[in-house]
Amino acid sequence: MQLLKEKILNEGEALSETILKVDSFLNHQMDPVLMKKMGEEFAKRFEGKEITKVLTIESSGIGPGLMTALTLDVPLIFARKRKSLTLTEDLITSSVHSFTKQETNTITVSNKYIVPGDKVLIIDDFLAVGQAARGLVDICNQVDAEVVGIGIVIEKAFQDGGKELRDQGFQVESLARIQALKKGEITFAEEMEG
Ligand code: 5GP
Repeated sequence: MQLLKEKILNEGEALSETILKVDSFLNHQMDPVLMKKMGEEFAKRFEGKEITKVLTIESSGIGPGLMTALTLDVPLIFARKRKSLTLTEDLITSSVHSFTKQETNTITVSNKYIVPGDKVLIIDDFLAVGQAARGLVDICNQVDAEVVGIGIVIEKAFQDGGKELRDQGFQVESLARIQALKKGEITFAEEMEG
């Protein structure tokens, strides 16, 4: 997605060979116009999938996830990373190791909101080794909901998550794919269909 790539080039900062900082439009401040366009792009790429829910993980997946859900006219559910006092119903949980924070979180979703037969589109801000996406897939599997696709804002193609998820048969759509990061230098990979 050209607009996103330009934004990454203009405002993104390669902190190291593995970490990209995009706090000015995605991970801290959010650009609502860009979010809206990304939501429309995800909805287009997964057209015809009869999606009933969009599922993401707090906090940075919520912006693009909500805009996608708005375009598709379905609810957005975000998995919680911390125990919530108000989440008292039966919970579906999975374990996710964070690549950037080097910590393991138990993520939770109420089984009131993801139910058997749901056709779920997973959305997240970054795809690195794929732990977050796998945790969300696991939550869907536990309730017999079908994952119809995975939409990612920025895929780091030099890490294995995207390849592994595609090899497992998931349709993974990334709006920007990064080939390499070097301090002060960002190189894009070709876009990939399906
Ligand atoms: P994965 O689970 O695929 O290894 O990593 C995905 C999660 O880690 C995303 O939800 C995102 O929050 C975080 N993440 C991974 N790599 C990066 C990165 O280069 N920059 C930022 N800002 N977040 C990242």
